Amino acid sequence: MTAKPSFSFEFFPPKTQAGMRTLWSAVRRIEPLEPAFASVTYGAGGSSRARTVEVTHRIATETTLRPVAHLTAVDHSVAELRRIVGQYADAGIKDVLALRGDPPGDPRGTWQQHPQGLRYAYQLVELVRSLGDFTVGVAAFPEMHPRSPDWDSDVRHFVAKCKAGADYAITQMFFRVEDYLRLRDRVAAAGCTTPIIPEIMPATDVRQIQRFAELSGATFPEDLAHRLEAARDNPAAGHRIGVEHATAMARRLLAEGAPGLHYITLNRSTAALDIHRSVLADLPSSSRSHDDAVSVH
Ligand code: FAD
Repeated sequence: MTAKPSFSFEFFPPKTQAGMRTLWSAVRRIEPLEPAFASVTYGAGGSSRARTVEVTHRIATETTLRPVAHLTAVDHSVAELRRIVGQYADAGIKDVLALRGDPPGDPRGTWQQHPQGLRYAYQLVELVRSLGDFTVGVAAFPEMHPRSPDWDSDVRHFVAKCKAGADYAITQMFFRVEDYLRLRDRVAAAGCTTPIIPEIMPATDVRQIQRFAELSGATFPEDLAHRLEAARDNPAAGHRIGVEHATAMARRLLAEGAPGLHYITLNRSTAALDIHRSVLADLPSSSRSHDDAVSVH
């Protein structure tokens, strides 16, 4: 590992005031760690989108964190996308994760392009780039994008998206290090050097994780599923199992040269922080600052 790894955290816009309080308590616990950035997911539609914008603005104005705004092309005309990106720029937010998004309601349903909208994420990368001095991230899929017919086209389109102007990529959740390494090596073999940051999802609750794995298409290892199943009614044991598994993955990913780690928090910082502390404890002190490997500036 040559450069310092970047560490970042992902939040989602909560639906309720209680959820908002939980989110802010997680944000305040993560702030002193000085992560490279904190990202906020973009809702599938309606009011959750307004909440994404609100939470991202608040992070920008009320914390020392650098917010990255997720944005999808779903149900948006180009004019609307321009307006949203303009609002971010006005609030001093210059980092966007450009995604195509999935059909609302059923992520596996038929993708419908907005009549005045975009069809693929690379077009959103181009649009955001054209609107100003933004840093742009994109999505990567260690087990291939669920809609890709084969690896060759998946990697070809990923590389095209990077060439359109992506500065870095963040992966979909995955639970086997080999899946990440295979993707990284395929992308490198195609001549693309865009850093791919692995997403770390703490698998602490078997019900929740199986649902996420189904939605995302990620393969959930049987032995981990069995251990979590045995801890179904014991949250402390589930937490320990999930944190151990994710910590082992995170350590190996960094040892294999991953440029950083992007932790999913689900707005509850405990598991992500437990993993992060263990990972930091392994690193030489010179590698513990968080902003070198992947520049979001
Ligand atoms: P694309 O890169 O457009 O790829 C979609 C499919 O089209 C792929 O199969 C690709 O190979 C193919 N393709 C691309 N270009 C072409 C072309 N020119 N011709 C033919 N085929 C092509 N969803 C949300 O709603 N909100 C979020 O905040 C959110 N955050 C996410 C964060 C991360 C890190 C990740 C990994 C996913 C996130 N998602 C989010 C889910 C994401 O929107 C879906 O997984 C979506 O399907 C991702 O598409 P993409 O951006 O990779 O699209």
